[in-house]
Amino acid sequence: MTEIIDGKAVASDIREEITGCVESLEAEGVTPGLATVLMSDDAASETYVSMKQRDCEEVGINGIHVEIDPEAPAEELFETIDDLNNDPEVHGILVQLPVPDHVDKREVIRAIDPAKDVDGFHPENVGRLVAGDARFKPCTPHGVQKLLEYYEIETEGADAVVVGRSDIVGKPLANLLIQKAPQGNATTTVCHSRTDDLAAKTGDADIVVAAAGVPEFIDGSMLQEGATVIDVGVNRVDADTDKGYALVGDVDYESAEEVAGAITPVPGGVGPMTRAMLLYNTVKAAGEQAGVDIEL
Ligand code: NDP
Repeated sequence: MTEIIDGKAVASDIREEITGCVESLEAEGVTPGLATVLMSDDAASETYVSMKQRDCEEVGINGIHVEIDPEAPAEELFETIDDLNNDPEVHGILVQLPVPDHVDKREVIRAIDPAKDVDGFHPENVGRLVAGDARFKPCTPHGVQKLLEYYEIETEGADAVVVGRSDIVGKPLANLLIQKAPQGNATTTVCHSRTDDLAAKTGDADIVVAAAGVPEFIDGSMLQEGATVIDVGVNRVDADTDKGYALVGDVDYESAEEVAGAITPVPGGVGPMTRAMLLYNTVKAAGEQAGVDIEL
């Protein structure tokens, strides 16, 4: 029987844990604060940010939201980041990407105080993660690790294939999987659009993580019997629904489920975990900045 990895349920457990941590911090006079900054009128970005704010409210984190006109000069964004860096009530800062073309994304990431960089994208935090001393693990890779931990999927000695090498998912996840640490110690191959014979790589893997952004392109024929399949992909495809589209992963769920030992659905797999791990990082940041020990 294929085990369906229920990201919603795991995320709900983690959120409960986080709520407890928020209460402990409150008892010490600290209310964790997360600032989201949106410089875009993209509908998907607006939705993501409002979901993050709602998540904060649910666990007792103080959500602060700043909107900047996408036409405004880049300086306005940098001044906002500077103010938030210096605001003691703000423990985490998240600038929703993408930013407009006239703003340099890398400069934005570098402008955020690394201690408040709850996305884990600042070069200092990337370096610490690679060195095995992560301050903030980026939310999606961290969420994937947590799912593997909850479902007791052995990574030590396993052959893992990560499909995708982005800075936010593929690269950090591969780094976590190779670390000498729990949910690490996997022999990890990173694949991308130039990989030759992808099916041969995924077909030999005990764990396949799909993070390419290509709808349903990994199917059952590309998997080894009993493999664990983690589908990070979220892709909109035309469909006969009220919205006119449906969300699908990078994995062809129907055929993959027949072969896999365990598999995440889309939606309801990695997505809820990404959201939960942002709250996790915010609470961790608040504890560190306030000098309060919290158990997470
Ligand atoms: P990017 O577009 O930044 O990276 C995609 C990666 O996949 C690239 O490395 C690319 O290779 C590789 N790739 C593209 N096509 C193929 C192919 N045919 N075969 C092998 N590799 C391929 O995407 P992200 O990492 O930001 O996101 C990946 C997916 O995950 C998207 O669907 C996104 O929506 C989703 N996502 C979901 C999250 C969640 O919480 N569930 C969070 C973040 C992302 P190359 O480098 O050569 O171009």
